[in-house]
Amino acid sequence: MSLKYIEEYRDALLARGLVKKIHLVSKKNLRLMEVCGTHTTSIFRHGIRSVLPEGITLLSGPGCPVCVTAQRDMDAFVAFARVKNVIVTTFGDLMRVPGSRSTLAREKASGADVRIVYSISDALAIARENKAKEVVFCAVGFETTIPTIAAGILMGIKEKLDNFSIYSAHKLTPPALAALMETEGVSIDGFILPGHVSVITGTRAYQDTFEKYDIPSVIAGFEPVDILTAILRLIQQNEAGAPALENAYARAVSDAGNEKAKQIMNQVFEICDATWRGIGQIPSSGMQLKQAFKKFDAAIKFGMDMPDVPEPKGCACGEILMGLKTPYDCALYKTKCTPMTPVGPCMVSSEGSCAAFYRYS
Ligand code: SF4
Repeated sequence: MSLKYIEEYRDALLARGLVKKIHLVSKKNLRLMEVCGTHTTSIFRHGIRSVLPEGITLLSGPGCPVCVTAQRDMDAFVAFARVKNVIVTTFGDLMRVPGSRSTLAREKASGADVRIVYSISDALAIARENKAKEVVFCAVGFETTIPTIAAGILMGIKEKLDNFSIYSAHKLTPPALAALMETEGVSIDGFILPGHVSVITGTRAYQDTFEKYDIPSVIAGFEPVDILTAILRLIQQNEAGAPALENAYARAVSDAGNEKAKQIMNQVFEICDATWRGIGQIPSSGMQLKQAFKKFDAAIKFGMDMPDVPEPKGCACGEILMGLKTPYDCALYKTKCTPMTPVGPCMVSSEGSCAAFYRYS
């Protein structure tokens, strides 16, 4: 199927045709994971779960940047907000994510200077306008976001913005997929791979994981026809016993990805181990500033090294992100934990599984 315009990917007739095909080919019970939080939201918004055969279970994976930000990193963001003369700049989603003792929203209400920004450019502008203060940017996100942060750092150097720094809690997608496949009890029959991330990484970034685990994998866009196409292809691969790495988002994703974006990212950042909330440490799954850019590292600038802390009691975010549980399996879901009183990050972010279940199911 080769479609030209975005409306075609929302076409009800095409979507119905795909659903029909899915029901025709689907024989086995399969557990398919959508890795990306935007896919989770789109699947709920378009009611895709409700039109699939009973044997097809969709699991929401570790692709919501806010949900996977470790509690110790949230604690660091809160700690920066408590430092005199510091302005903390953050994406809005992080404001209400609970750290172990507070949230950025609570710190702001108590008088801290915490400002919501939409990009690192906004944070740089605040640094430019507040030379007498230190501006810290809470840098979370995946391969989609990291090149823009790297470009911001290069801009900071160019403008000699010595009062600007970032705290990098960035994450990389392929190592997380490998970690999932290595986790005992995790059972996944196919990955719906993230569209936005793949625009940067390209299809090749998943080749090693695919070859090592022989797991059906399809890169998908975010419209209903995109997602149904990916589900159909994953079912066909499973039914035929012929796993493949396919790109069903060829209008945006190439084999090599965005070379320029990757070059900027690798100029400023280097791979490091990273702690994922509820999952733990995954080797080579994070990005830290290279030595030459360490003066922009807020953790070093402020001597911030927060200890690891356990997840909130009863919160199953980690198991949900690994496809081991659903929000319904969490005793706090809709009781103690709601979007107004979130206990874990999966209930805060609009891309979080618990928030999506709460809103749509
Ligand atoms: S419902 Fe709340 S407490 Fe339970 S897993 Fe989701 S975010 Fe955590």
